[in-house]
Amino acid sequence: MNPDIFRPPVIRGRMTITDQGDALVLAGAIDEAAALHELPQRARNGQLVLDLAAITFINSLGVRDWIRMQAAAQKSQLAVELRRVAEPLVHQLNMIIATRGDAKVTSFFAPYACDACGREESLLIDAVANAERLVRLDPPPMTCPECKAQMAFNDFPERYFSFLTM
Ligand SMILES: [Zn+2]
Repeated sequence: MNPDIFRPPVIRGRMTITDQGDALVLAGAIDEAAALHELPQRARNGQLVLDLAAITFINSLGVRDWIRMQAAAQKSQLAVELRRVAEPLVHQLNMIIATRGDAKVTSFFAPYACDACGREESLLIDAVANAERLVRLDPPPMTCPECKAQMAFNDFPERYFSFLTM
């Protein structure tokens, strides 16, 4: 199985926070019930590392609380790293600049489609290893897990990668 293929678990109810040692793993929907305010207190050695692969949805109240969390982290001078950012959160980072805070995104999911077999996947992009091509708005090549053809990036790079460049 290709480890880059991401299938989000279906989680109902409030967002969960799990400490995996090197990162706090957030899962589920970010809404007014998500305890985002707890996150800065759970930073370690001045570092707040969030794994966001399992975020399924964020509503407007969740966005408000997310911006507050980023502001609190900035005030406490925490280094915030966002890992494996799920697509719904990438859209917010692109639309609302305040959601970015001072956070560094080290990897994120992006939509790809295979013209040969029609498969669509959310694939993980390493934002550090691919930094140069991402600022050129050039999506990294990906191989279709189904038929091994090269997949096409399935959004507008100038829109989807804008959180990295602006
Ligand atoms: Zn294919």
